[in-house]
This record gives sequence, C-alpha cells and structure tokens, in this order.
Amino acid sequence: MVSSDQLPKNYDFAEVEERWRGTWRDEDHYFDRNSEKPQFVIDTPPPYPTGNFHIGNALNWCYIDFFARYKRMKGFNVMFPQGWDCHGLPTEVKVEELNHITKNDVSREEFRRMCRELTEKNITQMRLTLRKMAFSTDWSNEYITMKPDYYGKTQLSFLRMLKNGYIYQSEHPVNYCSRCETAIAFAEVAYEDRETQLNYFDFGGVEIATTRPELLAACVALAVHPEDDRYHSLKGRKMKVPIFGHEVPVIQDTAVDPAFGSGAVMICTFGDKQDVHWWKQHNLALRKAIDRQGKMTEIADAYHGMTAAECRTAILADMKFLHILNRQEKLAQRVGTCWRCKTPIEILSERQWFVRIRPDEIQKAAHQITWYPEHMLRRMENWIEQMEWDWCISRQRIFATPIPVWFCIKCGEMITPDEKDLPVDPTLVQPDHACPKCGGNEFTGEADVLDTWMDSSISVLKVTGWDGKGAPPFFPAQIRPQGHDIIRTWAFYTILRSVALTGQKPWDEILVNGMVLGEDGFKMSKSRGNIIVPEEILVKYGADALRQWAAMGAATGSDIMFSWNDVVAASRFQTKMWNIARFVLIQLEKEGFDKNVPVTALADRWLLVQLSDTIQAVSDAMECYQFDVALKAIREFAWDTLADNYIELAKGRLYTGNESRKSALLVLSAALDSLCRMLAPFTPYFAEECYTNLNKGVSVHTQPWVSFTYDDEAARNEGNLLVQVVAGVRKYKHDSGLALNAPLGRVTIYAPHTINDEGDTGRTLNADVHWRTDAAQLERAITDISFNRAVIGPAFRKQAQAFMAAVRALSPDQLENPPKTIFLEGNEVEIPENAFTPKFSYIEEGAKVDVITVGDVIVTIVKSA
Ligand SMILES: [Zn+2]
Ligand SMILES: [Zn+2]
Repeated sequence: MVSSDQLPKNYDFAEVEERWRGTWRDEDHYFDRNSEKPQFVIDTPPPYPTGNFHIGNALNWCYIDFFARYKRMKGFNVMFPQGWDCHGLPTEVKVEELNHITKNDVSREEFRRMCRELTEKNITQMRLTLRKMAFSTDWSNEYITMKPDYYGKTQLSFLRMLKNGYIYQSEHPVNYCSRCETAIAFAEVAYEDRETQLNYFDFGGVEIATTRPELLAACVALAVHPEDDRYHSLKGRKMKVPIFGHEVPVIQDTAVDPAFGSGAVMICTFGDKQDVHWWKQHNLALRKAIDRQGKMTEIADAYHGMTAAECRTAILADMKFLHILNRQEKLAQRVGTCWRCKTPIEILSERQWFVRIRPDEIQKAAHQITWYPEHMLRRMENWIEQMEWDWCISRQRIFATPIPVWFCIKCGEMITPDEKDLPVDPTLVQPDHACPKCGGNEFTGEADVLDTWMDSSISVLKVTGWDGKGAPPFFPAQIRPQGHDIIRTWAFYTILRSVALTGQKPWDEILVNGMVLGEDGFKMSKSRGNIIVPEEILVKYGADALRQWAAMGAATGSDIMFSWNDVVAASRFQTKMWNIARFVLIQLEKEGFDKNVPVTALADRWLLVQLSDTIQAVSDAMECYQFDVALKAIREFAWDTLADNYIELAKGRLYTGNESRKSALLVLSAALDSLCRMLAPFTPYFAEECYTNLNKGVSVHTQPWVSFTYDDEAARNEGNLLVQVVAGVRKYKHDSGLALNAPLGRVTIYAPHTINDEGDTGRTLNADVHWRTDAAQLERAITDISFNRAVIGPAFRKQAQAFMAAVRALSPDQLENPPKTIFLEGNEVEIPENAFTPKFSYIEEGAKVDVITVGDVIVTIVKSA
C-alpha cells in the first residue's frame, strides 16, 4: 500500500484493471447451496458460441452484473451462472466452411466431433472477454448444452413431456427450409418485402390469380365467396386443373375476398398459412408437389425433378403456349424466409415432433411474472394470442440433441429409453429390451434431432437443480435477463416448458434489454461497417468505461445507440473521480481524522443531507433496474455536489487546521466510502482501487450496500442558500473580470436566519464575509443612463442629442417611471419604448456597493480598493 500522496496523479485503467483481475478469486462469486441468505438466482442467457462476445451481449451482461453485484451487497445469495447454447445450424455451416466439406461428406459422429471442437475453441475465447469485462460470473455453475450432463436433461424433459401429453408426433404442415433441409418453427421465420409477379390464368373458364404457378400440381380446390353471384353456377361442381388434369372441388368460404383478382382462388398444399387453414377446415386432399430438397415430386408429371423456380418458369411458358396465361402484374409481397439463410420457406406436410401449445397456461404464468419494462408483457401477450400452430421441435440436422426414441421395425411401436440411461443417441445404440408389444428385437432410431430452443428453454431448470421430479430446489429463479428480440422464442418457450414440467412460472421477474445500434443509429451490420467490438473499447478505455456506457446509454429496455462520446465521458468521469479520491485520501492521511467527532459545520451537514438523498435515489433506482438513473445520480453527486460545491467550500477550512477540519474530514471520508460502494456494481475495478486505498486492503466487493441516512432540514435549506450565494458571487466575480481567487473586499449577505458557515464562504470567495439577518438598508441612486441608440437614432435623427439631454434632465423619479412624452425643442414628442434604461447604484451605510440577489436574498459587495 502506497501512502496517499504517492498515489499516481493519473488513473491508469489498463494497469489497475489487469492487477485486480489477477487478484480477485472466482470462489467469491459462487452460489452457496447451504446458505441461510435469501437466494437470488439469475437465469443468464446462454449465448451462441460464435467466438465473439458482441456489443449486444456486453450490454445485456452489464445489466446482469450491475444487479448481481448489487444484490450480493444487499445480502442475497446470488447465482450468476454462465451457459453456452451450442447446438444449431450456424456452427454446422461454419464447420462446413472451415473444412471445405458438406455435412454428408463425413459420418454424423465425425461431423459432430468437428462441431464440438469448434465450439470449445469459441467458448474459451468468449470466457476471456467475460473476465475482462469484470462480470462476477459464478463459474461453478457453468453449463454447456452440448455436454452430456446438459443434453441428458434436455432428453429427460422430452421424455417427461412425451409422457404427460405435451409432446406428440404427427404429419402436419410445417415451415421448411429446403436449403438447410430442415423444418423450422414459426418464431424462426423472418419476413422480407419482395416484389413478385401475380399471374392471371384461365382455369376452365374461371380466371385465377396466383403468385405460385409452380404449385398448380398441388392444387386441391377452388374457393369462392358464397355470396359472389358470378360463381353461383359453380356450386357443387368439380373443375379440371389445367395442364395436370386432376379434378378438384369448388368450395365456398367467407374468407375469400371477392374484390381480389377475379374473386376465385386456388387452394394448394401449401402456398401459405391460409391454404393450411382451408385445407384443414374443408378436409381437402393432400398433394405434395415439392419435396424436402425443394424439388418437384412425381405428381408434377413433366416437371418432376425440377427445382421450384425452374418449374415456375416452365409452367408459365406452357401456359403461354396453351393461351391460358391472360396477363401478369407486379405485386409487392411479404415473404417468409429462413432466419438463417434467407431462402423463402415452403410449407410442407411432414411427419414431425410437436410441443402442444396451451395459450391459457402460458398467459397465466406470464402474468405472474413482473416485467421490466412493463410494456414488454404486451409483446408476449400478442405473440400468445396469435399462436395457431403447435411448436415444431424436430429438425433434420446433425449437431443437436438427439430425440431419444426408437421404433420397432416389426410393429412400429415407439420405444423410449430408461431415464437412467440418458443421454442416448438412438442412431448409435439400441434399446436394451425387446419390443413390449410384439417381442421384436429390431429397431430404427429416430434420426431427427431437437430444435436448439429445446435445450435453452430448460436453462432455468438446469441451474436450479432439476432432476425430473417436479419443481427443483432453487426454483423458480428470481430473474431472467434477456433481449426483446427473443421474447417470442426464449421467453415464450421457457414459460411453456416450466409450466409443462413443474406447473409453475420459471422466474419472479424478467428484465428485458434493448438492442445496441451503431453510431449512425442503424442496426449494426457488416455491410454498413458500423460494428463496434467490445474488445476495441476495452483496449482504448477499459472495462469500467464500457460498463458506464451500458448503464448510461438509455433507459432499461430501450434500444441504445453506441457512442464513443459516451465512453469518453465515462472515462473523464473516472479521471474526475480519481482526483476527488486522491484529494480526500491525502487529506485523510494528514493529522486529525477522528471518526468520533460531531459534524458541526453547515457545509458538512449539508453534504451529508445530499449524500443521504443520493443514496436513497440510487438505491430506489437499483431496486427497479433503472441503471441510467442510478449512475446519473452518482455522477451528479460526485461531480457537482461534492467536487464543485462542497470541496470548494470546505477546502479552505481543511487547510486552516481548525478544529472543524475534523468535521470536514469525517464528511469527506463518508462521501468517498459511499461513492465507492455505490460505484462498485458499475465500475468494479475503479471502485476497488479507490476503496482499497481508503480502507487499507479491504475489498469493496465484500462490503454491504451503503445504508447511510441523514436528516437535517435546516442544513438542507441553509446549505442550499450557502451554495447558491457562493455560486452567485463567483458569477459576479467572473462577470466583473476578476479571477475566482482574487480578493474581493467586503460581502454582506442578508439571509432569513443566522447561518454559521465556520468561515467557509469567506475563504472560498477570498472576501470579508458577513452574514446578517436584518433587512438591508440600501439607498438607491441613479448614477448613469444607458441609451439605446438603435431606437433613438431612427426615431429622432438630428434631434437625438437633444433627446438625450432632455432625458438627462428628468428627475430621478421620472427616470425610474418615465413619462409617455417629453418636450423637445418646444414640441411634445412620444418617448419610444426601450429608448433608455437608468443605471442604479446602491449606497449602504454611506459606501457605494454592488448588489446581487440570490433568490430572495440580497448580497452587497464592496470591492476592495
Ligand atoms: Zn435455411
Ligand atoms: Zn414391436
């Protein structure tokens, strides 16, 4: 420990941050399973291990760390786990790219091994960033979804939900990406505006408009509105599909818009969601014209084997040839595309696995959770309300949790593994018993795998210790922090799964953060070149500055624009705060610190009132996750109240060595101590560095949250006056061209009551200051007149001089309340508005004084000669 006057003048964030990173111990952040303290379990998002912890993650994690540290200081047993959500398409695609292979070039096992290897490498890299950012992660509760102990739990949850009727398999239309060759859930469909062609063609005498002529082979009905008179004759008839020749019924449905096109539409399996709806409602046939690779099937006759796009071109050409293509129009359209590769999705009917969605259950649980900010609940409600299909959870991919199910080859019976044998890969191992139905011994393992959200939606069950038996010991968690972009996926699926597996809500609270936009206000993207990488900020300004940006950038839940200026401001605050800390530490090390002396001086009491108010405001904001409000209050107190006002006032007293110096020392020490503790969640390195110098060797991160209160109404009011008077006189000095420390002379303050400032005002202003409670006895005299030539010139022209002379001749009374007219060379003329202002001087006890007012308080100043 160095002596305080040897503390470096400049705060070297790089040196300090690295030093503390090497000192802090992981164990200090472990959740204690045997603790008596109230628990605070965080359902941290498991990021996708891309290798780069991006700025959006950084924002989210900053929020988490702010409240994790705060809650620890408030006496909670905090669990801040870290998970990694490994499975999924992006890693598969990356592995294919890096190794110049496709997934079919190697065995499934080999491909999985390559995916695991890449993921491990990426996780290692991202852990490093988490540590640099000073997140107080509980590394004893780290989980990795591709590891057997995690995906075994995913499989367990699958089996439990299969048993209790939440999971079923069936052939049902699903969203399908033919490039990725997998089914995807509705939540993974991205929508894009595209321009397409609307084709009008003749369908046996009825004009049909379609954007998907390639689906003609899959046409299963024509639909018209029941009240559309044009089509009465078609009622109950069958129509022959052009080119293909199969017959389809004409159905009537009020959902058909008679005003669109010809008012008749063709229903195909499946062009869109509406087709699925009609297909179900009218019990129509199923014709699959497109297969999983996006190629035309056998029912497409001559077009068999073509891609959908090739088929479209060919059919349109054939329609032209047959003279049944009437016309084509451009049409703007919203197309559903694959979230990953942007290929337009197809709706295919496939045997898939589904999770049953029971909207009422989810609504109920969602309403038992407190949402921050509150309006995010509305987004969840909307999503639940528009749920039409169950959640398709099977994927036709490789790097994912296997679906733990076999089918008996002889009788088709479904066989599930014993829970004790989990995890299993049914494509690699066989059941250890014969088929219970037919005694058969041959089985096919399910080759489909699970949607990644099936892994991540049990994160909260995993960290709270779920073993399959109802609600786990630390369930529900206290909070789920996450971005608003995954409300309809991660939040939705987690609530669904918690209710299905435990009958309860997963968390007490959910805190939703916004997205980080580039400095140009746009979403960060490679093509815009506006991506900011956390590592770059860490190198230039350090973790504490980046963390301050995260806190201050916007209200919790709002999108936040990245701004280098904010980071620079954060770093400036650290410089300022370091200067304050050094000043205080140096003072404290000098003689006289005694924590048992009474706080006497007005300025000292006033500062304690301000400190108490600040602590209250910051604590209130922390309780409802308003980090911007909290940090703003801390900065204002440190910068304005403490540094600019208080220290300026008390500095002189500190140097006098008076008895009341002790009172000031006590106050400074209390303020620095409190500031360090309040800053600890936001700037853990900086707060530690200051605090350890204040309380030799003690870590601020082991300290309780500051609970100091101080109530003194008189000190608040009189202190405010004191501060305002000093500010007023300093402004006067500045306006008069005086240096702030220049001697001023005699200053008399006419305050409403006696104020004992212990000489602070006088020393601060470098003046002979007198506080008085009587009324100021001032005589006012007009000593000069200031003429407004811009008014007088044009109004009087050559008579301007004469006008001014006439004004000067007015009595003081008349100058103060000017008449409307004045005599000028014998003529009565009007006095224009704003022609002149009298300048007053004041005489106090025979001497000329300058007067300023601070609120209702009069201050007179006699400048020294
Ligand atoms: Zn795709
Ligand atoms: Zn069997």
